[in-house]
Amino acid sequence: MSRSAQYLTEVAKYGANNYKPLPVVLERGEGAWVWDVDGKKYLDCLSAYSAVNQGHCHPAIVKAAQEQAGRMTLTSRAFHNDQMGPFLHQLCDLAGFAKALPMNSGAEAVETAIKAVRKWGYKVKGIPANKAEIIVSAGNFHGRTTTIISFSTEEQYKDGFGPLTPGFKIIPFGDADALEKAITPNTCAFLTEPLQGEAGVIVAPVGWLKKVRDICTRHNVLWVDDEIQTGLGRTGKMFAWQWEGARPDAVIVGKAVAGGMYPVSAFLADENVMGVFKPGDHGSTFGGNPFGAAIGRVALKVLVDEKLADRAQELGTWFMDELRKIKTSSVVEVRGKGLLIGVEIKVEAGSARPYCEALAERGILCKETHDQVVRFAPPLTVSKADLQWALPKIAEVLAMSFAPAMAAAH
Ligand SMILES: *Cc1c(COP(=O)(O)O)cnc(C)c1O
Repeated sequence: MSRSAQYLTEVAKYGANNYKPLPVVLERGEGAWVWDVDGKKYLDCLSAYSAVNQGHCHPAIVKAAQEQAGRMTLTSRAFHNDQMGPFLHQLCDLAGFAKALPMNSGAEAVETAIKAVRKWGYKVKGIPANKAEIIVSAGNFHGRTTTIISFSTEEQYKDGFGPLTPGFKIIPFGDADALEKAITPNTCAFLTEPLQGEAGVIVAPVGWLKKVRDICTRHNVLWVDDEIQTGLGRTGKMFAWQWEGARPDAVIVGKAVAGGMYPVSAFLADENVMGVFKPGDHGSTFGGNPFGAAIGRVALKVLVDEKLADRAQELGTWFMDELRKIKTSSVVEVRGKGLLIGVEIKVEAGSARPYCEALAERGILCKETHDQVVRFAPPLTVSKADLQWALPKIAEVLAMSFAPAMAAAH
């Protein structure tokens, strides 16, 4: 048995069956490339859902982790540590917000946002107790906690996990009129991704965010922007909201904040919103820990020093053009922004899964998102030569058809 096969057997035996990964067992990564336990090399075109924007094992980030690991890793928030302050300072400067509240996973930072805007609704806007409403977008992905899945439109995410949390209203993504109509005097916030990654790389109409800004301002509603996947350079700007210059009231970051080396997330806002939190209102044992903060400081610096947002824009525009040039009858559309690109496969050609399997056989790692979309989101440090290497292989795979009858035989 190959080492990969042994590993897959072990995981099938001892692991919960809550994911359906491609059967690739990775042991090492460097930049945009990863190696499996049998020595096969792949171009990573997922970047752990954009958590590894800075590339695998970036030397400067590894050095920060090694140094901080030997100095101090956790103090809890019962005491201060010498890393959190500089990290929050740097994050606030980068995002252009006055305050940041550090957590660990993205879902925790979304939960933090929900608590903040509800409390703002009661204490500042004057919404009657327990009546606060948050408007969200259909097709959203904000994480997997019981409250967050309560406003998912993905039935499987909710099935069997009720009772669900009330207080959320769902409107179509990218629809400014629907937002305005959904607002009531009890609306405290509109929570949305600027571009939907998990939904299949769905790009909103141009001008939508500007309208969102205007509507939210007129109705005294907070616009909360989930940039966990789109942020930190991925779409060709440091934050996707910057494409329209319409600044949200609060931003949620995660994933690439610490370069994929450690889970660090944060909720950012100005004092008018962050000021609702008083000691004891919210917290996390690991949130703001010196290990994550030290790694985050360098991971954020790498984004700026290496101009990774500009790289994403340049390479992404070129790569998307090249993907669109591929002659195939299997593709509905190639869409995206920067290096967050979705290739939608025609239903008649089969699902995206066999395309991802065929790409993996050729040394390119992608994961299907929703049944029909292959997402290309390599580390932002990827080179043009790497992508040029991948293009003919992608063209070969996209020329294939995995129509249902064939897929059954596959
Ligand atoms: C990944 C993601 C989350 C959840 O982050 P976790 O770290 O997996 O909890 C939330 N929102 C968006 C847009 C994401 O892509």
